[in-house]
Amino acid sequence: MARQTSGTHQIAIGKNPERSRHHNRRVVLDVVRIHGSLGRMHIAKLTQLTAQAVANIVDELVSDNLLMEVGRLRSGRGQPPIQFAVNPDGAITIGIEIAADHMVIVVLDLAGQVRSREIVPVKNTTPEHFVPRFVGEVDRIRTLFKAKLLGIGVVMPGPFEIDGMTSVGPTTLPGWGTIDAAEMLSEASGELVIVENDATAAVVGERLFGAGQTISDFCMIYFGAGIGLGVIHEGTPFRGAFGNAGEIGHIVVAPRGKQCPCGQSGCLELYASLHALKEKLREAGIAASEFSDLETLHAGNHPVLRAWIGEAADYLSPMVSMLENILDPETVMLGGAMPDAIIDDIISAMHNLPVSVASRRVRSLPRVQRGQTGQLTAALGAAALPLFEVVTPKLDTSPTDIAHNTL
Ligand SMILES: [Zn+2]
Repeated sequence: MARQTSGTHQIAIGKNPERSRHHNRRVVLDVVRIHGSLGRMHIAKLTQLTAQAVANIVDELVSDNLLMEVGRLRSGRGQPPIQFAVNPDGAITIGIEIAADHMVIVVLDLAGQVRSREIVPVKNTTPEHFVPRFVGEVDRIRTLFKAKLLGIGVVMPGPFEIDGMTSVGPTTLPGWGTIDAAEMLSEASGELVIVENDATAAVVGERLFGAGQTISDFCMIYFGAGIGLGVIHEGTPFRGAFGNAGEIGHIVVAPRGKQCPCGQSGCLELYASLHALKEKLREAGIAASEFSDLETLHAGNHPVLRAWIGEAADYLSPMVSMLENILDPETVMLGGAMPDAIIDDIISAMHNLPVSVASRRVRSLPRVQRGQTGQLTAALGAAALPLFEVVTPKLDTSPTDIAHNTL
């Protein structure tokens, strides 16, 4: 299961006053966050909580630094009501993307603003090497920001826990196949940890911070180490029953094609992925291990890179029209750990997209476009996961969530 909250057990919603209190706090926080700033009366009206309950919750949230007073709103006669807004400095979340050779770390404040972003090289991503490193980074950020940490979103390439498909292939992380990563990282750090596959986190990042901010139905083909698909449906990520929706990397696009470590032949990932590109370059005797190497090759219009762009576009075009026919998105984005210039060239090379339900004469968005959040997109999405896990009201809150956060 790609999406795991640490030790999640769903429990029935009963008359548990503590649970209702947590829930109502989330409801209030969410409604204030959405509206920017609100007075108590207005919050009561929007949440259908009693004025007394709202007054108590607002007081609590203010004393916890999660809400702050932002002055009074002038409104006709009488004493204007005090307005409250989410306190950006009240809490932070951390998003970490674990890739094969580096990790991207993003810190968001409670208002969803990016407070820091960095890309650090990682030599060894096996659990025994990575976990201490993870804890070290979390401690460093905690010391640096001194704000309440709501939780940590972690992305790693999926799929997870698929019989016959785990721990194989160069595009999954070695050693994590059978491990409950959320539980392991949560225990090690003492924080709420949510694990998501990279493509789904990326599409959440694009929805919140990038080209998807005003689009409620779109999908994103994501270049991680492999290739994945993130789907936003009606404004929220579509995960499927087991969190593995969008695993397009192992769809066969070339029958009797190259042998894939997953056991099939001709999977998309073997032709259109960062790994495929690096393989092709390596076969031509070119070592391109860094992002900047790819940028240099592109700037020099290298023939091997050029040929790969054409090949990748040939395999991605039918995939795009298939996605359009199945999902009917407003647009399909292409993004991830690939230089923008290369993604732009792949999109240009896809000019002959097959006819699909998206072949309308009048379109407000192109059928395919590049995502805007670049290399940080998955980490941004990861950092947003605990924010929404904790701030937005949900009925299926697990006991672990409550134990781990003090909201
Ligand atoms: Zn495969």
